[in-house]
Amino acid sequence: MRAFVPFLLVVIMLAGCQTTPAEPFSATLPPTNAAISLSQAATAVPTANPIASRTPTLPPTATFTPTLTPTATLTPTITPTPTATFTPTESPTPIPIASPTPGQIADPNATLPPTWTPPPADPASQIADHYRLRRPIADGAANWVARTYPYGGTSGGALQIHLGVDMVNPRGTPILAAADGVVIYAGSDAATQFGPSTNYYGNVVVIQHGFTSPDGQPVFTLYGHMQRADVSQGQTVKQGDQLGMVGDSGVAFGPHLHFEVRLGDAYSYRATRNPELWIFPYQGFGTLVGRVTDAAGTRLYDVTIQVKSARLTRYAFSYADDTVNPDSVFQENFTLGDLPADYYEVSVNENGRVRFLRTLYLYPNRSTWIDVQLK
Ligand SMILES: [Zn+2]
Repeated sequence: MRAFVPFLLVVIMLAGCQTTPAEPFSATLPPTNAAISLSQAATAVPTANPIASRTPTLPPTATFTPTLTPTATLTPTITPTPTATFTPTESPTPIPIASPTPGQIADPNATLPPTWTPPPADPASQIADHYRLRRPIADGAANWVARTYPYGGTSGGALQIHLGVDMVNPRGTPILAAADGVVIYAGSDAATQFGPSTNYYGNVVVIQHGFTSPDGQPVFTLYGHMQRADVSQGQTVKQGDQLGMVGDSGVAFGPHLHFEVRLGDAYSYRATRNPELWIFPYQGFGTLVGRVTDAAGTRLYDVTIQVKSARLTRYAFSYADDTVNPDSVFQENFTLGDLPADYYEVSVNENGRVRFLRTLYLYPNRSTWIDVQLK
């Protein structure tokens, strides 16, 4: 995966010249530029002629079936009904499709034909999503997950393992409660440790929510690097209430929101889970979730996964090691959110060799599973 040099250059640009463990973000690179660079970098990666091999050989139902095999991990007791995962009280009002995301920038080299094939029937009942949170940044601001440094990633080994997700916004951007709850902490982390050390998340707010995880644990959300907190300990908040404003307090190299989901122990840096499996996707968008293993089923670390449709190309990275907690339902080791529903070619290329290649249909408004077993 280190062969993906252009991407690493982008990562290094984003991270700046920092050598200390940190929440890296250069304020000088707006996400749009990063996305364009990524897109350009992506076009430099040789791929195995996805188009020619794709159209004639893809009966949709045949290709989709294998992607839904992890039923063993989806135990009946935690399978919510569709309404339970998206009731008006728990999720934001259906949000307009449109907030721009980096990946929606057209890939100039995309050559997949625009012909539309009806997708296979949606077997949604097999998916045990637990989207209970809204985005902690409002529509109209940058409320997508920064793709160069996702949950569980290291930005190609340049940074310490990331146990949350980042949303890069200017100082002063309002930070919103992801769901109803009670503020259990608000203020500086100089004396109370939430990160790998004190004075790490700066001004931080932690909320305990009124629901539990699929495995029965209390659910907390953490909002770090705030310019200031606008709530106080013990306060009850409603979903969407302003908690504070984006800043760069603590160890941060530019203003951004660091957002975490923690289960069981609000004060443990090792209690985190992947927020992308908790934040409801935009209407028409979905989340790719999966597991990268070798032929024997052993999890593989830091693998770069290319995800390409006729409209966009993006990259996901498998978790950096076994200290990164997977979701109790999915047992995943990578996710990629904010994908418009579409056919995607998912591939892993190493040193010019195609180690995995499959096309799937990614369903809207929920997660779609893929097992990425490398040859
Ligand atoms: Zn972060």
